[in-house]
Amino acid sequence: MDSIFQKKEIRVAVVGRNLEDLLPMLKMFPCKIVEESPDLVISHGGDGALLGAERNYPGVPKCPIRDHRENPKCPRHSEISTLQKLFAGQLKPVMLLKVVAKKASGESISGINEILLDRTQKASAIRYRIWVDGELFRPQVVADSLVISTPFGSTGYFQSISRGNFTTGLGLAFNNAMDLMGFAVIGEASQITVELLRGPAVMGADNDSRLIPLQSGDTFTVHAKQNTTPLYGLEIFRCVDCYDLRKNGVH
Ligand SMILES: [Zn+2]
Repeated sequence: MDSIFQKKEIRVAVVGRNLEDLLPMLKMFPCKIVEESPDLVISHGGDGALLGAERNYPGVPKCPIRDHRENPKCPRHSEISTLQKLFAGQLKPVMLLKVVAKKASGESISGINEILLDRTQKASAIRYRIWVDGELFRPQVVADSLVISTPFGSTGYFQSISRGNFTTGLGLAFNNAMDLMGFAVIGEASQITVELLRGPAVMGADNDSRLIPLQSGDTFTVHAKQNTTPLYGLEIFRCVDCYDLRKNGVH
C-alpha cells in the first residue's frame, strides 16, 4: 500500500464542481480537507477538473472522480465505493505521459492530453512542416490546426478529429487538412519538430488558458516525458460502461 494511505490523517485538497456532494462523503474517511500542502488531491468533475488540479498542485498524487450530477455511473462505480477503495489503498497508481512543447526561443508548455497548434485567423488555414527524429515526415500540411496527443488525451480532441484513439505512442491529428490525411500515430520516444510555414498561430496545452504566439518561420519541438504524478482510480475514471451512460445522456 502506498505510504500516504497509511497515514492517520491524510491531507486532502478537493477541486472541481459540485463539491457540496463530495465533501459530506469525505467525512467518513480519515482525511482533513486542506488547501495547502495536500498529500492527495481529489478532482471532482471531468477531464477539465483533473487538468486544473494538476496545474494547481503539480506532482501531488491525484484521484479523479466524476461528479454524479453531470456524470451517471455504472453500478460498479459509485463515488462512495471509489473512495472506499482509494482510502483502503486498493487503487493502483498510474503515471501518465506528458507532452512537452518547446519553442526555439525557449518558451515551453506541457500537458497530459495534448499540445495544440491552432490558427489565430479563422478565415485562413495555417501551413506547417513536420520532422520526426530529424527526418522530414510531412513536407507541408495545410490545415486548421495540429494536435499532438498522448494516449490519455486521445479519447478527447484527437478522437474528435481522427475518429479513433490509441493506447501507445504519440498521435498527430491534422485538423481539417486539405489533403484529407487525418492523423498518424508515431512512437512514444519520437522527437517531433514543427515549423510553422504560414501563421500566425498559437500553441497551447490541454485546457490551459496560456497560449504561446507563433509567427511564420517559427519552430518548436515536442516530445513525451513520463509524468511523475501518480493518478489513482484512472481505470474507474475511464470506465467504458460509465462512458456509455454519459454518452447516451442518461441521468
Ligand atoms: Zn463504471
